[in-house]
Amino acid sequence: METALERTLTIIKPDAVRAGHVGDVVKMFEANGLRIAAARMATLTRREAEGFYAVHRTKPFFESLTAFMSSGPALVMVLEGENAIARLRKLMGATDPAKAAPGTVRKLYAQSIERNAIHGSDAPETAAFEIAYFFAGIDLV
Ligand code: GDP
Repeated sequence: METALERTLTIIKPDAVRAGHVGDVVKMFEANGLRIAAARMATLTRREAEGFYAVHRTKPFFESLTAFMSSGPALVMVLEGENAIARLRKLMGATDPAKAAPGTVRKLYAQSIERNAIHGSDAPETAAFEIAYFFAGIDLV
């Protein structure tokens, strides 16, 4: 089978950082073939959160989402691995934790459809945009 070494962007969101789940989530990444290529703790400004989620600016939850995402420290990371984008999406679980599969990050740690513990890029184009939004090439190891 064809495999591709990919990079994807993840954010352990402010709810999961606040609840002390960083170590548990990073352990899940490493146990599932996702290597950390860059990592940075950051409290996003409202503007930074709005830029990151610009694709959702017309959604009814945009105000609430960007307020939440800038509400406290988050851990922004680039992960690398075979088919990293799809691999991370599977490990994350569905957006709504009530619909997330057992053993996924969101099933285990999300509080609600908005405070859902983790972000992961959904396609190669979004991964490229999101990685460049937070990191320079020199930051990737
Ligand atoms: P993801 O790719 O699974 O993160 O989901 P989306 O790209 O559709 O949405 C981006 C983020 O917006 C989600 O991770 C949630 O934090 C939030 N979100 C999505 N849908 C809803 C919703 O219906 N209500 C609220 N309040 N937040 C939502």
